[in-house]
Amino acid sequence: MTQAYKKPIPSPQGESDHYWQKAKEGELWLRKCNACGEAYFYPRDISPCCFSRDTTWIKASGKATLFTYGIVERAPHPGFVEDVPFVTAIVELEEGPTMPTNIVMEDPTPEKLQVGMALEVVFEEITDTISLPKFKPA
Ligand SMILES: [Zn+2]
Repeated sequence: MTQAYKKPIPSPQGESDHYWQKAKEGELWLRKCNACGEAYFYPRDISPCCFSRDTTWIKASGKATLFTYGIVERAPHPGFVEDVPFVTAIVELEEGPTMPTNIVMEDPTPEKLQVGMALEVVFEEITDTISLPKFKPA
């Protein structure tokens, strides 16, 4: 990171501190419900599948497939001006949950992006405490 980050920065909360700590270490972690067995995203203490509080952290493989995407041509915020065009996407993680993210690639076009394509996580260090999980073609 050589210059100040100009985009919105996530604010870690108690329920997501572990997620951000692990992201900083280059690992993607999810919550998993012990009652129904479902992994889920975003990280929170109560299972969204069955509302159980019996949940735990699991390390994700970092593998995903492209679920849907859009190529952003016009910056939605001044901080993104230098990034356009860029890809905003929802990916389906190997563990099951879907996750909003970006696909990292040069000069994105619809020809380079196929729903279902294999992806792997990469981390963009944006501050001393936050690294954002993004995905690139595997
Ligand atoms: Zn559950």
